[in-house]
Amino acid sequence: MDNLESIISIKNLEMSYGSKKVLKGINLEIPRGQIIGYIGANGAGKSTTIKIMLGIIQGYEGKVEILGQDISDGSVEYKKRIGYVPELADIYENLTAYEYISFLGAIYGLEEKKLIERSKKLMGLFGIKTTLNSRISSYSKGMKQKLLIICSLIHNPDILFFDEPLSGLDANSVMVFKEVMHTLAKEGKTIFYSSHIMDVVEKVSDRILLLNDGKVVADGSFEELRNKSQGSLEEIFNQLTGFNEHEKIASDFVSLIKEV
Ligand code: ATP
Repeated sequence: MDNLESIISIKNLEMSYGSKKVLKGINLEIPRGQIIGYIGANGAGKSTTIKIMLGIIQGYEGKVEILGQDISDGSVEYKKRIGYVPELADIYENLTAYEYISFLGAIYGLEEKKLIERSKKLMGLFGIKTTLNSRISSYSKGMKQKLLIICSLIHNPDILFFDEPLSGLDANSVMVFKEVMHTLAKEGKTIFYSSHIMDVVEKVSDRILLLNDGKVVADGSFEELRNKSQGSLEEIFNQLTGFNEHEKIASDFVSLIKEV
C-alpha cells in the first residue's frame, strides 16, 4: 500500500439507533500519515463513526474499509493494527499496570518480557515509572490517561483513534504527547484525533473534518477552512454549525442562578 492509497475508506456510511438516524451518508478517504482533527457538537456522531471503524458497533449501512479490508465480514485481523484511547475509559481498575499490559500483550500476541520492558521505559518517559505494580485504581486521573495512551501504542499500530486524549494531562505531558503525535504521523501513522478543544485541534491537525448532524460539513486543512469561513477554528465551528447565541445563553444561565 503506497502513501496515496486510502488507509481508511468510508462510503455512504449511515447509522440509525432505532428510528433515529445519527449518521447520514459519510464519505471519507484518508491516506497514510495524516493527523485528522475530528470535530463536531455533542451528539453529532463522532463517537459512533469511530466505534464503527473499531468494529464495536455493527448494523450500519454503507462500506467501511480499514487497511484495505472491508470490516463488515467480522474479521478481527485489522484490529491488531489499530490503537484506541476512548473518551471514557473502561480500564480494569483492579489490575496493576503490569497485569493490564500483560493482558493486552496476550491479546496482540506480543512477547511479555520485551513488552513489559518497553512499557516500563514508556511509563518512565511519561513520568509514571514507579507505579507499574500498583493497582490502576490508585492512579491519579492523569496517570490513568497516560497508561491508556501507552496501551494504545504498545503494539505499534498503523492507525490511532484518540478521543479527548489530553484529558487530565498536565501541560508538560501535553507537549510530549503532541510531539509524539507529529513524529508518529511523519513516520506514516494515521491519527484520528477527536476533541472539543478547538485551539489544539487547529494546531495539531493536517486535516480537519467537521461533523454536523451526522454529515461532514467541512473537510480541509485549517488554512483551507479559514479561506471559506473567517476566524479561529472555534469561530469557524460556530459559523458552520449555525451557532451564534453563546452570549444570550450565558446571560440566561447566570440570571437563573441568581434567582436563588
Ligand atoms: P459527544 O461530543 O457528546 O461525545 P458524539 O459526536 O460523539 O458526541 P455520538 O456519541 O456519536 O456523538 O452520538 C450521536 C447520537 O447518537 C446522539 O444523539 C446520541 O444520543 C445517539 N446515540 C449514541 N449511542 C446511542 C445508543 N447506544 N443508543 C441510542 N442512541 C445513541
